[in-house]
Amino acid sequence: MLSDQDKELIEAAIDAIKQRYRDDWQEVGAALRTRDGCIFTGVNIDAYIGRMAVCAEAIALGRSITEKGDNGIDTIVAVRHPKPDEPDQAIKVVSPCGICRELIYDYDPKARVIVPNGKTWAVTLISDLLPNKYSREPAR
Ligand SMILES: [Zn+2]
Repeated sequence: MLSDQDKELIEAAIDAIKQRYRDDWQEVGAALRTRDGCIFTGVNIDAYIGRMAVCAEAIALGRSITEKGDNGIDTIVAVRHPKPDEPDQAIKVVSPCGICRELIYDYDPKARVIVPNGKTWAVTLISDLLPNKYSREPAR
């Protein structure tokens, strides 16, 4: 079940990408709530050289750390804006990519993540999205 705060976070991510959407350049918005209750948003930065692209979740995390320091991630969500030629025009919650899963885990291994669940959403833990994460330390 999503709380009102979770729904507020989805709305913040939707607002971010609605404001900054550009076909092929900014298509994903993200919002996170830090452990001290602040919301930060970001949109992805695509690039002509694809490997230079940065995901919306990383931009939101970077903004939060830049502006207020590392206060962990209570909850994070990303949403994708449809392209103009897509028949279904709804902005939808999307799962974080593999790179973002690593990033989110590194900054808060207990972070909650809002993910799509059929036609609705679910909340899961980043540790459930990234089992057996890479570690320099031997497994205990
Ligand atoms: Zn990503």
